[in-house]
Amino acid sequence: MSMTLDFLIKGGSVITGDGKTHLEKAVIGLSRGELVVIAPGDPEPGLSAGHVIDATHCLVFPGIINAHAHNCVMGPSMPSGSAAPSQSEVNWQRNRHLLAGTTTLLNVCGLALPEELRIGDTHPLDIQVSTAHSPANIRSALSVDGKGLHQRHLQMTVETALLAGAKALGEVGGGQTLGGGAQEYKFIPQAVRRHTGRDIHPRIARRLRDAVVGRYLRPEDGANDEQLQDELVACGLADILDPAAARNLILASVMPSVELALAGFEEIARCAERTGYPAIFHNSTPSVKTLLGVAERYPKATLIAGHSNHPMFQPREAVDYAVALKRRNVIIDVSTLDCTTTRWRNDPANLDALVEAGCVNTISTDFAGGHWDTIPEALHRIIRKRQMDPAAAIALATGNVARTFPQLAGDRGFIENGKRADLVIADHANCARIRHVLIKGKLVVSDGVVLSDG
Ligand SMILES: [Zn+2]
Repeated sequence: MSMTLDFLIKGGSVITGDGKTHLEKAVIGLSRGELVVIAPGDPEPGLSAGHVIDATHCLVFPGIINAHAHNCVMGPSMPSGSAAPSQSEVNWQRNRHLLAGTTTLLNVCGLALPEELRIGDTHPLDIQVSTAHSPANIRSALSVDGKGLHQRHLQMTVETALLAGAKALGEVGGGQTLGGGAQEYKFIPQAVRRHTGRDIHPRIARRLRDAVVGRYLRPEDGANDEQLQDELVACGLADILDPAAARNLILASVMPSVELALAGFEEIARCAERTGYPAIFHNSTPSVKTLLGVAERYPKATLIAGHSNHPMFQPREAVDYAVALKRRNVIIDVSTLDCTTTRWRNDPANLDALVEAGCVNTISTDFAGGHWDTIPEALHRIIRKRQMDPAAAIALATGNVARTFPQLAGDRGFIENGKRADLVIADHANCARIRHVLIKGKLVVSDGVVLSDG
């Protein structure tokens, strides 16, 4: 049989994304943006192609689908509806994701609009947005920031955003509105600076928050004046803050948005059941019980527990809650955050615990103040530590995500006949060294460089 293809990729070791299949050596053929040939061994003599990639000593896997990322769109940033990131920031984020093998990305800030995707959009990465335009989510954003929200964002509804092309619901709640990451690296440091003129490290912000309201954001769990004074001394802040001032500052920064953010869980879970779109929730200590509650009340909805390795959990807690959520059919997503190589604020203890307990369905980056580690770095770590075999690990970022988000990625995520030709070709000994990336059958990263599509 003779057949002419657009691309032929030969000699590579191929992981198909189904969680099991790992072909020692295989041929992949691409035509008109789709996968049309997948066969073990060497190419048949009759097979020819416009372009041939020799993938010997490489690992070939489906393009990564990152369904929890931020600041890749010039619209309201984060669930706090903060001012839009600059074009330069957006380009930097998009390039980093693409060079890390992500071919489909869901920007889950939640209040950006599908029409804002097109601003400055000549980038080859396939970027889509989610929607969290419900009344409580918008009020919660306004209570903590909201500087990026204009009339068109405030008037948007979830239904209208879905009609305009949003691909999922969420992120409901966020580090800004639920006392998490962005409170540590942005809002608490800003408040301390306003009040005292001094800059503090996010780790110090975390200690102050934990001292005043605890990991569950309950002021009644907080330290008494004497304990808080000791903590201020340990943090090197006793010369500029007394316990009462520190308490007021943390309460004012963290608490006003919490109730509103949790009210958004109910609105969006109900919407997820009604519309059939999956919904992403901020999963951390102050929100996990609310998430368990909505999972109980909306059993037909596809609900995703975002970044279930959130640093506000202890490892044991993260696993126990993940098991309880899975029992209610909630999808357990973990995020790389800055857990694997950067370790600016976070470490991999919760990620390891969840992977080793067999709880993880999908993996994403989230944002971690822009310090996010890449998905393949985390996958390489999982593979090297023998926590999972390579086929199962790669599925966390490909096939499993496609199954969870059919409206976003139903046509991709697997190396299978008829699927969209989104592919990554990486170093076989380290899947985080990305050499080539193809999207819709077009080479967009070649030998580690982003090709401009003009
Ligand atoms: Zn979050």
